[in-house]
Amino acid sequence: MSNAIEIEGLRKVYAGDGRMPEKQALKGLDLTIPTGSIFGLLGPNGAGKSTTINIMAGLVRKTAGRVRIWGFDQDRNPRQSRAAIGVMPQELNLDPFFTPEGALEVQAGLYGVPRRDRRTAEILDLVGLADKADAYARTLSGGMRRRLLLAKALVHHPQILVLDEPTAGVDIELRQMLWRNVRRLNEERGMTIILTTHYLEEAQEMCDEIAIIADGELVIRDKTAALLDRLDGKTMVIVPESPVETIALPEGVELDHRPDGALALTYNRGRVSAEQLLSAVHAAGITIRDVRTEEADLEDVFVSLTHKD
Ligand code: ADP
Ligand code: MG
Repeated sequence: MSNAIEIEGLRKVYAGDGRMPEKQALKGLDLTIPTGSIFGLLGPNGAGKSTTINIMAGLVRKTAGRVRIWGFDQDRNPRQSRAAIGVMPQELNLDPFFTPEGALEVQAGLYGVPRRDRRTAEILDLVGLADKADAYARTLSGGMRRRLLLAKALVHHPQILVLDEPTAGVDIELRQMLWRNVRRLNEERGMTIILTTHYLEEAQEMCDEIAIIADGELVIRDKTAALLDRLDGKTMVIVPESPVETIALPEGVELDHRPDGALALTYNRGRVSAEQLLSAVHAAGITIRDVRTEEADLEDVFVSLTHKD
């Protein structure tokens, strides 16, 4: 199977109540997530990331659109599509009276995992909770509770693992431990991983592909390397002595006319040098009155992509 997830025209309207107006959380989202990838779903707060994930997981009912999980249409094969996906939710919702072992057994029961197929000890070991198997959840630290949530998501051996903001407010040690686990699940078991995070560096390091959504719509989706390539862009702004229509430029350079008559040349530092650009400008017979460069960093580009005027 080439795509673990296929989403088409996904819409979600949360009905309003006395205090909250109706909210269009997803406005026709199309998204495919390749099998075997570590896929990052990014976007500002309120973009619709959790809504998308919760719809995939069968926790939130969609308003319109089509969702296929591991090849199963969510409406036609709800049981199979649910079985293929495990979700580590954003909130810590654990029953304080269960032990980790008990919580995993209950979860396995909910998903109809036969006793002989249960791997409770193995999963607890994987998330580093083997020695806490019999401790009550209320006695576990915040970090341990998160690991327990990860363990719960793995109980029914899903092909797809979804992590919603797994490292928000988590200390460095736990974060690294989570990422080690996630990488192993991906590399050793070929599990497809989908995660949301608002740490751009984390996404950059972990994800093969990234989609950015904002205000319920897809802004951009690309391989991380290609995205970074774009983000590696730099702009040289040239103010010419007299108006200029167009210039022959090296490949990959984009020309924009600024309202004040300046020429904005956007290029990739890895592929084109400033010197090459200046030579092209000289070759076009342009007299330069002023020149400056503008550099975008990841944060800038994220902001410019996700905030519409
Ligand atoms: P994200 O995870 O990207 O921060 P969410 O999917 O949680 O975004 O939320 C998207 C939008 O939908 C937000 O405006 C949020 O306030 C709204 N929303 C989320 N859940 C509900 C709900 N249960 N009822 C009403 N509105 C909701
Ligand atoms: Mg969220």
